[in-house]
Amino acid sequence: MRQPRGGEQEQGCSDGHEPFRDKEGEVDGHDGLRGRTWPNAKQEARPTMIPFVRDMAFEYGRPDAVSPLIRRVVANNPGPFTYLGTGTYIVGHGEVAVIDPGPLLDAHLDAILTATEGERISHILITHTHLDHAPLAYPLKARTGAIIYGLDEPRQQVDEGDDDHSSVEDNEARFRPDVVIADGQTFAGPDWTLEALFTPGHASNHVAYALSEENALFCGDHIMGWSTTVISPPDGDMSHYYASLDRVQARGFNVLWPTHGPPVTKVTPFVEAYRNHRHARELQILSELRQGGATIAEMTPRLYRGVDKRLHAAAARSVLAHLIHLRRTGQVHCEGPPNLDSHFKLISNGTI
Ligand SMILES: [Zn+2]
Repeated sequence: MRQPRGGEQEQGCSDGHEPFRDKEGEVDGHDGLRGRTWPNAKQEARPTMIPFVRDMAFEYGRPDAVSPLIRRVVANNPGPFTYLGTGTYIVGHGEVAVIDPGPLLDAHLDAILTATEGERISHILITHTHLDHAPLAYPLKARTGAIIYGLDEPRQQVDEGDDDHSSVEDNEARFRPDVVIADGQTFAGPDWTLEALFTPGHASNHVAYALSEENALFCGDHIMGWSTTVISPPDGDMSHYYASLDRVQARGFNVLWPTHGPPVTKVTPFVEAYRNHRHARELQILSELRQGGATIAEMTPRLYRGVDKRLHAAAARSVLAHLIHLRRTGQVHCEGPPNLDSHFKLISNGTI
């Protein structure tokens, strides 16, 4: 089996976190919002305290029973976008589902097979097709005969920090599950029931899976306990992301199990903080535009003042995601389709 090159593995694919957080991880310190207000803003930006959770006891390849029905095996692919590595979840006993097998790593395949020895893997469920989540599904299927469920890889994905669109043509390289699933579709084993919840935003083909027996949600990269998530257009979409946050919050889950890092147990305040973080960023962008029109290249260094310049390319994509949303909601204007080079202006009272 092909082993990913070191660089690929470390990079972890076009996914992961928005790497601009303060050292303690309690405040979104990188955006400089703490204590700031904008006198002209209709709303006042509030400090965005995200109650990150980062501590997690684990060993690579060791299956840990983390709840009555859930085991977790972490792949050894830590990095700036994958945190400690990909957490693969095994749901149920005897006849089990595997959620996000992970990256193409022989050791991780062996770990999943060892963890499920004497059991049958009936379902392989994919949250989305980023490289640290889906590729190991194929060799796992080959070894076990399990069926792969999820959504097709979109034709075009963009790596954060990368201005060039990397097109994935409609060919063998594109990840495709055996079964393309529907929103709300359920899957069951002897002691578990999972429901697919479409949650686009981080990725257009992102699906979370609700475990009804534990009122839990496997939320993939939609919500991560250790960091904010990357929304990188065009595959990432901020409007969809907001809607998906609302959808998760409305369900009242007891616990969220992200692919990377420990579970989120205080779900409502966490999701609210996640949303507030984004809204505060939008207010900051609108405040920038209140000084006159600007491009993303002009705004990003000011919005991310004090943040490592090497992260500004990824930050610019996040700003673009916000501006696309603000344009869609009639708050900003630019000529033609919004992109990194567009000149954005504020729309106030219906005029530019
Ligand atoms: Zn991802």
